[in-house]
Amino acid sequence: MSITVHQFPCLSDNYGFLVRDDATGLAACIDTPEASVILRELEKTGWKLALILNTHWHQDHAGGNAEIKAATGCTVVGPAEVERLSPVDRKVGGGDVVELGEARFQVIESGGHTLGHIAYFDAADHVAFVGDTLFALGCGRLFEGTATQMWDSLQRLAALPDDTKVYCAHEYTASNARFALSVDADPALKARAEQIFAARERGEWTVPTTIGLEKATNPFLRAPTLRPELAPAEAFGAVRTAKDNFKG
Ligand code: ZN
Ligand code: FE
Repeated sequence: MSITVHQFPCLSDNYGFLVRDDATGLAACIDTPEASVILRELEKTGWKLALILNTHWHQDHAGGNAEIKAATGCTVVGPAEVERLSPVDRKVGGGDVVELGEARFQVIESGGHTLGHIAYFDAADHVAFVGDTLFALGCGRLFEGTATQMWDSLQRLAALPDDTKVYCAHEYTASNARFALSVDADPALKARAEQIFAARERGEWTVPTTIGLEKATNPFLRAPTLRPELAPAEAFGAVRTAKDNFKG
C-alpha cells in the first residue's frame, strides 16, 4: 500500500493536498480551502476525486466542499461540526477508519482549535494530515476548546511514529519560529529556525514537517520542559497564551 501526496498553495497561506491511493488511482482532497485551485490541480494530475476529508468546519477548510462535490460527485467525509457550513455525507470521529481504495486513514480526535477537529493518519505510510491542530513550530489557536483538550490532542499526535510526515494546513512557520525563539533557548530550535528563515527567503515550503522534529523543537510540545513548575496542560496553556499575546 502506498499513497502519493500532491501539495499546492491556496488562499494567502493555506496548503491544499490531494492524496492518491497508488493501487487504485482513487484520490482524496484534504480540506477544501479554495475550490477553483483544487479543481485545477485535479485536472493537472488527472486524478479521480473520490473523497473530501475535512478536518474541521472553518471556511478555509470546508468552504470549497459544495463546489468540489458538485464538480466531481465525490463523497464528503468529516466531523459533524462541518455541517455548520455545508452537508457531510459520512460523519466520522476518533477511532473511525476511512478507506481510499486500498489506503486506510485512521481518524484521530484532535479538538481544541475547534471542538470537533480531527486528523487523518495513514499508518502504512506514516503520513498525517493534521489541519489546524499542529503546525511546524506551532499549534492552532484555541477558538473553541480548552488548553487541556488541545494538550491531549497534541499528545495523541506526538505519539505517532517520529518519522511520520505531518501535513499542516498553513505556512505559518517563520512567524512561529520567531515566537519559539522568544520562549526557548534550545540550540536545536535555534538551528532549525535559521534553516526556516533561509528556506522562506528562497520561497520554499516548510510543510511537511515530522513528529520527531516537532517533539524536539516545537515550544507547544516542549511546554512541560519550558515551564516545569506547571502541570503539563497548564504549561501548554501558558505557552499558548504567550503566543496569543506575542508581538513579533
Ligand atoms: Zn481553522
Ligand atoms: Fe485554517
